[in-house]
Amino acid sequence: MWNSLGQDDAIQMFSLAKTENRLAHSYLFFGPDRVGKATLAEDFARLLFCEDEISPCGDCLPCKRVTSKTHTDINWIEVGGERDVGFSKSKSKSKSIGIDRIRELRTAINIKPFEGSQRLVVILGSEDMTLEASNALLKVLEEPPENVFFLLLTSNLSMILPTIISRCQLVKIKKVSDEFIKRYMIEKYQFEDSYALDIARLASGKIGMAIFIADNPDYLESRLEIFSRIHKLLNSGLEERFDYSERLAMDFSRDPEKVHNELRMWEIWWRDFMLVQFHSSDKASSTSNVEDFLELANFVEIDDVINILKTIGRSIKLLQSNVNPRLVFDQLVLQTPVIRKK
Ligand SMILES: [Zn+2]
Repeated sequence: MWNSLGQDDAIQMFSLAKTENRLAHSYLFFGPDRVGKATLAEDFARLLFCEDEISPCGDCLPCKRVTSKTHTDINWIEVGGERDVGFSKSKSKSKSIGIDRIRELRTAINIKPFEGSQRLVVILGSEDMTLEASNALLKVLEEPPENVFFLLLTSNLSMILPTIISRCQLVKIKKVSDEFIKRYMIEKYQFEDSYALDIARLASGKIGMAIFIADNPDYLESRLEIFSRIHKLLNSGLEERFDYSERLAMDFSRDPEKVHNELRMWEIWWRDFMLVQFHSSDKASSTSNVEDFLELANFVEIDDVINILKTIGRSIKLLQSNVNPRLVFDQLVLQTPVIRKK
């Protein structure tokens, strides 16, 4: 039983490769955040270790151990390291995957598997590897020990060394349609049609995102708060704008993910705004703002909307590198269009 949703091409490809005994040693899964990479990685792990004739069954002991993250022949590696199984369980506060982790890994994969006859290494957020770590991993990928499989996951393919990419078979984890997500939300959560559609549009094709929103109703709630903050900012002067930037910087130092979410809301808000300006409000992520947008649309130039959308995208990228966050947020609030009511 596969848990991945809407990834039929990849599922078919892996099933066939497993049956014909020609699974590649290293795959690189790429696609946006919460699109389903980690779920497919778990599916792959069950496929690899399952003892049933029709794999992955989901019910045999190895399948269950994959699901509960207790399979000792799998190394899950990610920043923080809380998912490591089988060796180092230390939690670190590091923002990257350093060379020590890859050295530990190199030792671990040369030990005979404990449970089965093969090992699997899953690196979540491969773009978080330092250059040193990437180069060390490259050496491993160049001469992988027998019966060791590697899954590298990334939402940012451009940050992966080309030499690593060339060692892996690329698997694109695809977005699914709004209709697909809507149907799933209704089936799984028994949501009303309009609520399911709201979630589908917000998730913009990322099934993991849709499930996250469905499981965290606060998220929809916080969305409305953020939307009203953006709305207010349009009418605000410099002082209020810098206050907003300062708050974002403070939040970012405590909880970067929260600010990333807020910026994604910015993207959604401005995208909707543009859709309304182009008379395509039926494609907007939610119907609740359309009237506000219609009123504001006359006061904001389309070029300014395109500009702020670009700035948001750039801000998200810059925050992933080592740029001073305050400078990024200052730019963001300064580029936010000013309402000039005539
Ligand atoms: Zn099984």
